[in-house]
Amino acid sequence: MKYNRTYNFSAGPATMPEPVLEEIRDEMMNYRGSGMCVMEMSHRSKVFQQIIDEAEQDLRDLMGIPDNYKVMFIQGGATLQFAMIPMNLMKNGVACYVETGAWSKKAISEAKKYGDVHIVASSKDRNFSYIPDCSDLDIPENTDYVYICENETIHGVTWPKLPNTKGHILVSDQSSMFLSRPCNVSDYGLIYAGVQKNVGPAGMVVVIMREDLIREDLDPKVPLYMSYKTHADNDSMYNTPNCWAIYCCGKVFKYLKSIGGLEAMNQINMEKAKVMYDFLDSSKLFKGTVDKEFRSLMNVPFVTGDADMDAKVVAATKAAGYDNLKGHKSVGGLRASIYNAMPKEGVEALVEFLKKFEAENT
Ligand SMILES: *Cc1c(COP(=O)(O)O)cnc(C)c1O
Repeated sequence: MKYNRTYNFSAGPATMPEPVLEEIRDEMMNYRGSGMCVMEMSHRSKVFQQIIDEAEQDLRDLMGIPDNYKVMFIQGGATLQFAMIPMNLMKNGVACYVETGAWSKKAISEAKKYGDVHIVASSKDRNFSYIPDCSDLDIPENTDYVYICENETIHGVTWPKLPNTKGHILVSDQSSMFLSRPCNVSDYGLIYAGVQKNVGPAGMVVVIMREDLIREDLDPKVPLYMSYKTHADNDSMYNTPNCWAIYCCGKVFKYLKSIGGLEAMNQINMEKAKVMYDFLDSSKLFKGTVDKEFRSLMNVPFVTGDADMDAKVVAATKAAGYDNLKGHKSVGGLRASIYNAMPKEGVEALVEFLKKFEAENT
């Protein structure tokens, strides 16, 4: 393997496309004749303005983001959005949340600080191994929004179909599936994604928000940084943004365009996930933990059913050059995160290794 890199199955920060890392390396000491690295540049410089403008435009092209949506690059990770969303969107102080795993649970507990939170559906009864039926939810008329986590990174479940919000605004945490497949942005009021899962380096979130939802009348005690209006009015440059993450993400957006956009990416992701799930379905030692129709294409949790054996597999994979396969501590077992940048060969090699492990250990 070039550069002696490992196949990195980390859930985040996660693997990035090699051609992107090579470009970043080549521009490290002197970005396109500017005489400096992007890390060293003023965010108010012309050079950087072009970097951020192109990043936004490429993202708009990739996702087909309509003109009445703002794109914002904000710091504080996806976690800050758990608070920013209720602080900005709760006008009536009421919101509906669907509880599907660890990340929606965190969003729920944060939202409860700001208003009345209705958990309108939950899959807690079977340890978050499926997505509950959301075709006819009991949504109060005065709800400000309906919130989902569209891919639960830890539990490995994803939504095959969006919930019926009965005309209310849909808010979605797309952190671990952002840009993994085409997305009809106008189905949502707000989409956000921490970029260190499927796009770039840690420390930034992309927020895509319908313009009319940006409020002028927030409680004056809301910190300026936490008002979407601040970021929208200043094109993500109210204060110093995460310039480095914007630069790297911009490269990934261009890379995705170059391979054929989100349709092409989705095709590759489906093929990759199939390799993994076909193996799990035929294995006697390993099994997936999620109901088939809700399986994530990005995060694949699996178990042997024996914690000692799970630990043995994790150690063996690491020794063989497949890193970060330990399941999240709240779930146990194993988890292979096979984001956009994980090549199909990486998944195939892992499956070959697990087959061999199974043959030798059963
Ligand atoms: C990782 C993750 C988060 C939290 O992201 P941070 O950037 O660490 O705050 C939130 N939601 C989902 C779905 C995630 O995978």
